[in-house]
Amino acid sequence: MRLLPDLVLTPDGWQAGRAVAVTDGRIAAVQAPGEPQRGDVALAGRALLPGTVNSHCHAFQSLLRGLGDDLDFMGWRDRVLYPFSERLDRAGIALGAAFAFAEMLKQGATTCVDFFYLQDSGNENAEAVIEAARAVGIRLVLARAMYDWDGAPKRYRETPADAARRVRELIVVHRHDETVTVQPAPHSPHGASPAMIRAGWEVAEAENTIFHIHVAEGRYEGERTLREHGATPIRYLDRLGVLGPRMVGVHCVWLDDEEIALMGARGAGLAYCPGSNMFLGDGITRVPEMLRAGVRIGLGTDGGCTNNRLSVFDEMRTCSLLQRVRLLDGTALSAGTAFDLGTRSAAALMRLEAGAIGPGQLADLVAIDLAHLSLQPRHDLLKSVVYAMSPEAVTDVWVHGRRVVEQGRLTTTSEEELVARLTALTKGWTM
Ligand SMILES: [Zn+2]
Repeated sequence: MRLLPDLVLTPDGWQAGRAVAVTDGRIAAVQAPGEPQRGDVALAGRALLPGTVNSHCHAFQSLLRGLGDDLDFMGWRDRVLYPFSERLDRAGIALGAAFAFAEMLKQGATTCVDFFYLQDSGNENAEAVIEAARAVGIRLVLARAMYDWDGAPKRYRETPADAARRVRELIVVHRHDETVTVQPAPHSPHGASPAMIRAGWEVAEAENTIFHIHVAEGRYEGERTLREHGATPIRYLDRLGVLGPRMVGVHCVWLDDEEIALMGARGAGLAYCPGSNMFLGDGITRVPEMLRAGVRIGLGTDGGCTNNRLSVFDEMRTCSLLQRVRLLDGTALSAGTAFDLGTRSAAALMRLEAGAIGPGQLADLVAIDLAHLSLQPRHDLLKSVVYAMSPEAVTDVWVHGRRVVEQGRLTTTSEEELVARLTALTKGWTM
C-alpha cells in the first residue's frame, strides 16, 4: 500500500509530492511516487502526520464523564471514581474501553497507554480491554496496575506477589503481539506499598520493560510520603531503588528543584497530563525545567472524566499555554516542542518505533484536511496543527497500516451502536 498525500511531515520537515509506502504494519519508504501502483491511496488535499501517542489514560473512566466535574481530586475519587467503578462488570469495562479508544482514534491518537486497575484478582478484565483495543483498532500499551492500599475498592487490590505474577503472565502472553504491549504499573506512592512498588520494578527488570507510576499529582501526596516514608516522592522512589530509565512517572506536579535534577540524572521519564492537572486543580508541572534536566516526556490525556477531552493535539496546545501562564513568557514552550512531546518523544518513552514518518517506523498515521477552516490561512502548518486545529480536521487514521478512520468515520465499529450501548449502561447514573 502507498499513501499519496499533498504533504508529509518527516523528521526533516514538510515534504510535498511524496508517497509513503507501507508494508506489514511499517513504513517501508517515503519516496517520489513514480508510476501509479495497485494499492495506491490518493489523499488529495490532505497532509500526513505521525499519529499521536496518548502516554497516560484510564479508558474506562470515559463512562464516568460528567459525573463529578466540579470537584477536587479527593472529592472526585471518593464520590465518583470509587463508587461508580464498582458498577462495571467485564462487559462494561470492555465497552468503556471501546468508547474511549474510538474517540481517541477519531482525534488522531494512534496509541493509548491504558493504566488499568479494575483487576478483580485476575487478568480477564485486562484481556477484555486488550480485545476492545484490537477490535476498535488502536495500538495499546496496557499499563497493568498493581494496587494494595486498603482504602481502595477491593477489586483494585492484590498482594504484591499475586500482582507481580499476573503482570508477568500477561506480558508473556502478549510478548509477540503486534499492536499490544503490557507493562507493570504500581499505582503510586499512596496506592502501592513499598513492596508493591519494588515488585513492579522487579517485573520491569526481569521482562525488560518500562514501568508506570503516578507521582506527586497533588500537593497532599508529597506531605503524606514525607510523613509515612521520611522522604518526598521522587527521593522516596530513589531510596527504593526504582528511580531510573525504566520509570515513567505520571504527573510529577509537585517536585522541588533537587527532585527534578534527580529524575534527569537517573534517566527517568514523565507522562504529562496538563489538561487533567488543570481540570482537577492539581498544579503545573515544570516542563521546561524538566526538559533542561534531561527528563524524557510524553503527553497524555488522563481519564475521560478528569479532562474531559481525549485529544493529544489538545494536550500539545494546553501544555504550551500553561507554561506561558506560569512563566509569564510567550516563548516558554514552542509548537515544535509540544508536537514532539505528543508524538516522537512519547513513542520513545514507551519504547515504540513510532511518532515519526520514516523508513522502519510503525505505520501509525493521521491525515488532516488542508482545506479545513481551522488550518487557514496557511503560514506555518505545524504551528496551526498545535494551536488552531479543530478535531474535525482529522480525516483518516491508520494504525499498524490498517485504516481505522476513513473520511471521519470509524471503519471498525459502529459509532451509533457504541453510543446506544453506553447510553443504556449509564442510564440513571447520578451522584
Ligand atoms: Zn492516572
